[in-house]
Amino acid sequence: MTEKLFEKDSYLRRFTATVTRCEEEKDHWVVELDRTAFFPEGGGQPSDRGTLGGAKLLDVRSAKGAVEHLTDAPLAVGQTVEGEIDWERRFDLMQQHTADHLFSALVHRRFGLENIGFHIGEEITHMDFGAEITPVEIDQLELEANRLIFANLPVTVSWPGEEELAGMALRSKKELDELEGPVRVVEIKDVDLCACCGTHVAHTGELGLLKITACQSYKGGVRVFMVAGERAVRLAQREHRQVEAVSGLLSAKQPEIVAAVTRVKNDAAQAHLQLGQLQGQLLGCKAAAYTGENYVVTFEPGLSPEDLRRYALLLCERGAALAAVFSGGEGNYKYALATDGSIDARALGKEMNGLLSGRGGGKPELIQGSLACEQAQIQIFFSQKGYC
Ligand SMILES: [Zn+2]
Repeated sequence: MTEKLFEKDSYLRRFTATVTRCEEEKDHWVVELDRTAFFPEGGGQPSDRGTLGGAKLLDVRSAKGAVEHLTDAPLAVGQTVEGEIDWERRFDLMQQHTADHLFSALVHRRFGLENIGFHIGEEITHMDFGAEITPVEIDQLELEANRLIFANLPVTVSWPGEEELAGMALRSKKELDELEGPVRVVEIKDVDLCACCGTHVAHTGELGLLKITACQSYKGGVRVFMVAGERAVRLAQREHRQVEAVSGLLSAKQPEIVAAVTRVKNDAAQAHLQLGQLQGQLLGCKAAAYTGENYVVTFEPGLSPEDLRRYALLLCERGAALAAVFSGGEGNYKYALATDGSIDARALGKEMNGLLSGRGGGKPELIQGSLACEQAQIQIFFSQKGYC
């Protein structure tokens, strides 16, 4: 057994302990101590990092009541060593973890929903609940959570006796069976009682800010993404810079950027439509110039696959038995091949693809694809077939 100092004091950053075991394992060492302030992964909270006796702490894990420290160097058994937690990382994790308690408590109080999934990621924390929560409700819960942060409520830890525990309205009882030894209860005053093994801040005010960043439907319920503390401030900074940049690009005041973006999108859609119409007219004029030609093999720069198809069909409408239209550059041509039905476009295309490193297919009257060859090779192919 390892004495878990973090259970009583989440703020202990530096401690001394005696090495009780050290074994090599793959590319690191597994070290056990008589006591530790390093938190192993548990309850959705990642493990701590830091230094131990001059070695770098790579990971911390639970092992049947003991805590195993994975280090990059061996430590002598019996030696007294000093451990120092990477405090910036730990405090951030304490903020995210306590924010999870606070938000989950409010969801539970309002909807009776349990937190059925929780994970603190490198960037973002997510919490899963078993039913939908609307965006309006999320906003209300977020505001309520932040008001409780402003109220700076104490967050305390206790180990109630069996009788006291039985009388407690714990938010979630599902973890109780998994816990070893006495149940550790984390309380946010007047808001939440929850059995938990993790590390938490001492007052809700230390969360600073809690921001819900997204919600997704998840397994019939909802996955809520959240940041708290410095993460929330950094997110607000990043997003503010983005809004500022978009506002500058659009020459629109910040509260008006959605209307401005909508305008730009509508204008672009309109221009795209007009461009399509003009392109159609242009291709129609070009096709008219080939009126009376039986076979047309032509190269046109800058045509999209849609325009290639359109042009080839227009040429057939003008009387061509075969229209082969190419666009692109040397070594990379896109094509559309249309016929009036007298020639099997698929058979011709298959032969062309085979000889000219191509791919593609379609119907007997129209195929589309690409060729990895030169223009001259395409021209030789069609001239040998007697089409130009
Ligand atoms: Zn917790």
